[in-house]
Amino acid sequence: MPIRQLSETMINQIAAGEVIERPASVVKELVENALDAGASRVEIVTAGGGLNLIRVTDDGSGISERELALAIARHCTSKLSDDILDIRSLGFRGEALPSIGSVARLSIRSRTAAGDSAAEIGIEGGRVSAVKPAAANRGTTVEVRDLFFATPARLKFMKGERAESSATSDVVKRIAIAFPGVRFTLAGTDRSTLELPATGDDPEGRLQRVAQVMGAEFPDNAIPIDATRDGVHLAGHVSIPSFTRANALQQYAYVNGRPVRDKLIAGAIRGAFADVLPRDRHAVTVLFLSLDPATVDVNVHPAKADVRFRDPGLVRGLIVGAIREALAGAGIRAATTGAAGMMAAFRPGSAPFGHGGPANGHRSYEAAYRASGLAGFEHSPQRPLDMGYGDAQQQRTGFGENDQAAFETGPLHSADARASRGEPAETLLGTALGAARAQVHENYIVAQTRDSLVIVDQHAAHERLVYEALKNALHSRRVPSQMLLLPEIVDLAEEDAERLAMHSETLARFGLGLERFGPGAVAVRETPSILGETNVQQLVRDLADEIADNDTVETLKERLHHIAATMACHGSVRSGRLLKPEEMNALLRQMEATPGSGTCNHGRPTYIELKLADIERLFGRR
Ligand code: ADP
Ligand code: MG
Repeated sequence: MPIRQLSETMINQIAAGEVIERPASVVKELVENALDAGASRVEIVTAGGGLNLIRVTDDGSGISERELALAIARHCTSKLSDDILDIRSLGFRGEALPSIGSVARLSIRSRTAAGDSAAEIGIEGGRVSAVKPAAANRGTTVEVRDLFFATPARLKFMKGERAESSATSDVVKRIAIAFPGVRFTLAGTDRSTLELPATGDDPEGRLQRVAQVMGAEFPDNAIPIDATRDGVHLAGHVSIPSFTRANALQQYAYVNGRPVRDKLIAGAIRGAFADVLPRDRHAVTVLFLSLDPATVDVNVHPAKADVRFRDPGLVRGLIVGAIREALAGAGIRAATTGAAGMMAAFRPGSAPFGHGGPANGHRSYEAAYRASGLAGFEHSPQRPLDMGYGDAQQQRTGFGENDQAAFETGPLHSADARASRGEPAETLLGTALGAARAQVHENYIVAQTRDSLVIVDQHAAHERLVYEALKNALHSRRVPSQMLLLPEIVDLAEEDAERLAMHSETLARFGLGLERFGPGAVAVRETPSILGETNVQQLVRDLADEIADNDTVETLKERLHHIAATMACHGSVRSGRLLKPEEMNALLRQMEATPGSGTCNHGRPTYIELKLADIERLFGRR
């Protein structure tokens, strides 16, 4: 076949292949156009999941009659001056409308403030119809019917009405979070219908919009983020570690007001939460990055959801640092949703012996437990603690089981017990986790504050404390390393070898000694002792990938943290160990002093708190 110039319609259809993937992409482009036009109201109507109809109406600046034809012509935009580096609008490529018009039936009706009437233009599968007068208020209505009728192959990829509707709803929510001053409505199938009244552009309005979109319980369980580093500003909210999701869909990120799905940002969020969340749980986040438009490239993909930062290390460091700092500053705090669930689990009176009723109750459970032979094991002495609390002498003699016995079997409320033990000191009652009063089921410390009852999982709490101590040790000095008998040569792409060499000083601080070894290779001479026998090749390759992606050496740090976590798990107080009252109190004080101790290394809460008021409600006293 001879070489020939493609027709305008073909060119647009090829572009549409990238820009217009599904109905949700059309909605995204049209809503972005409305917002770029300064709209304060955006109304979206869809039918058939958007495949039959998408109509977006706005009250923005409108398009004048003589510019209507340009709006649907390829590479025509009102948003880009001469500087591709200075992009301040959502659109700039001038290809959304012609692309849609090449694969669907598109009509635009619009009226500007200056115009005394509206005008309309249509384009169907690339065929443009003449501009004609129309009746409309100020603003623009864009209607898209029969999406992909001109490209039936693409139509076959659509997932069905429900899935397309929910993708559309997701797109609208994502954009709406960035424009709290704008009212959005989406009418389609029942499940995707949205109504988001304007909440205002101030911080409070922003948070209200977030609550509209993500549910009111998010702000209740979130910590504000606000940090600046080298001209890059980060604001928003992240969930506390006990408020998580099974996937990362509830992580919203914006760069200069543009919704993005960015690997670097997602990775930074994961890194920031790595210590406090299990691998399969995800934080809920809304983060707004603001930076000089010249230092971020949004022209990476036609859908404009990808970005490239000029200084990825700076952005990653800012996000990780700000989130970690906020988490530490928020101190220990458990999710209200968890406490609410617990309240619901309490049932008054009717089932005195637990879930199974009397037949299956406490007694038979205990009998079975004893028969299993576990009962004896439970009381066997365990390794002494090395956390600096309690008295070493007493620890060696077996954790004062006598004191504990009085604690457990003595009548907790008797005047005798009170007198001999003394009421908890006022100062202890004023602390966050209160005064330890008892240990039950050999693992739970029951403590009392002025207005609540606190239950601590001693194993989980201690594991966390050991982990934090190990991590601190990792950071306070150079990580000890071991020399390899023979240096290990790792062959890499030349750029990777160069990048690793550039970071060799940081790597050395983490115990990994490496240097260039001719072109395309590095020689590893030392590895962190704590890693033991490790797969050096794999480690170095992972590090090279990470530096290429993010310009950091987080992988190594994370691996070391992971090891620390495993060690902590082995070195922690097992459940089943009896603690003396002063040991319990020491544990509580240490938790209060340790950032992140509200959750264990696997992200489970280490303690729960029941407010006295709620307890009273349970007993019908309020
Ligand atoms: P881009 O948004 O990249 O400029 P589009 O194809 O989406 O490209 O739109 C082309 C042009 O049409 C825009 O630059 C803008 O001038 C005009 N336009 C599109 N939609 C609207 C709207 N809702 N209100 C006002 N002008 C619009
Ligand atoms: Mg556009």
